[in-house]
Amino acid sequence: MAKRDYYEVLGVSKSASDAEIKKAYRKLAIKYHPDKNPDDAEAEAKFKEAAEAYEVLSDQQKRARYDQYGHAGMGGAAGGGFGGGMNMDDIFEQFGDIFGGAFGGGGGFGGFGGRSRGGRRVFKGSNLRVRVKLTLEEIANGVTKKLRIKRLVPAEGISFSTCQTCGGSGQVSRVTNTILGQMQTASTCPSCGGLGKKIDKKPAGADEHGMVRKEDIVEVKIPAGVAEGMQLKVAGKGNAGPLDGVNGDLLVQIEELPHDELQRDGQNLHYELYISLPDAVLGTKTDVPTVSGKARIKLDPGTQSGKILRLRNKGLPSVDSYGTGDLLVHVNVWTPKDLSSKYKKMFEEMQEDAEFQPNPDRNDKSFFDKVKEMFS
Ligand SMILES: [Zn+2]
Repeated sequence: MAKRDYYEVLGVSKSASDAEIKKAYRKLAIKYHPDKNPDDAEAEAKFKEAAEAYEVLSDQQKRARYDQYGHAGMGGAAGGGFGGGMNMDDIFEQFGDIFGGAFGGGGGFGGFGGRSRGGRRVFKGSNLRVRVKLTLEEIANGVTKKLRIKRLVPAEGISFSTCQTCGGSGQVSRVTNTILGQMQTASTCPSCGGLGKKIDKKPAGADEHGMVRKEDIVEVKIPAGVAEGMQLKVAGKGNAGPLDGVNGDLLVQIEELPHDELQRDGQNLHYELYISLPDAVLGTKTDVPTVSGKARIKLDPGTQSGKILRLRNKGLPSVDSYGTGDLLVHVNVWTPKDLSSKYKKMFEEMQEDAEFQPNPDRNDKSFFDKVKEMFS
């Protein structure tokens, strides 16, 4: 399959600024993230394609070379080196930059994955997952949480040394005689499994890699505007990698606690306000709850049930910090159910009177007009 143009992949123009490229990539990365699209090969391919395009276009030198020579300028031994595409670890490393160090998260890619670094394999500690419950107020303002986690760390008193068989390189080479002459082949060291190191002394209670579980408190800064199901990545706070390996990450899954009075709809909030019949007729001032204390609103005389008041910027901020949502107050006029004979008589009088007959004018918009207004 022919490679698509990198600008086309990100959906930006050739003259796009660095910020535009970053923004476009961020959008695609979220859309095609493997956590969101489990077992979807097409999404994964798109995810990798976008990562590769970003890798080139976010680097001035690579971008210039690409602009001049196209894909031909990127291949070759000295080129970018993504003949076979980037691997997931590389992509998630990009996320540190893209998501300000906090965002991203690679579900299922942790584990004891081997990583090649100058020949020697390096253990990567597995990722840890933890859920954190947030109130709407915490989501509105952002919050720092102290999370108690149990991480695998090297046991105290553990000692390891360089593997004698391979001298620490993790590889052994063998010379074999073939009919074509002598051939040298390199293979993974059978003695250390490619790690280049071996455990000398393993303290009691440690696992096969010399690790023990230890309680740790991790402070996580949660930005304002997060939503249920989002995942924050705290790099390096997962399980430690055995034998001087690389730490896994701590993945923090956001859970939203329901609010007693406010309902969330994206960045907007909704509140059902009940007012009395006299307040609807005569008008009133009343308080409505918001994520930052109460707000006073004024209702005009003759307020209809079903009216929606929009309190601008009283909703939730965007996690990308592009604007703030609104608080929509839905007015419900409370109709009394049990009346004393005194008031029953009054209503019976009113029932006869022409003054109380419904007579909607153009200002009393239909429900559908209101809905249209809400989403405009
Ligand atoms: Zn070895």
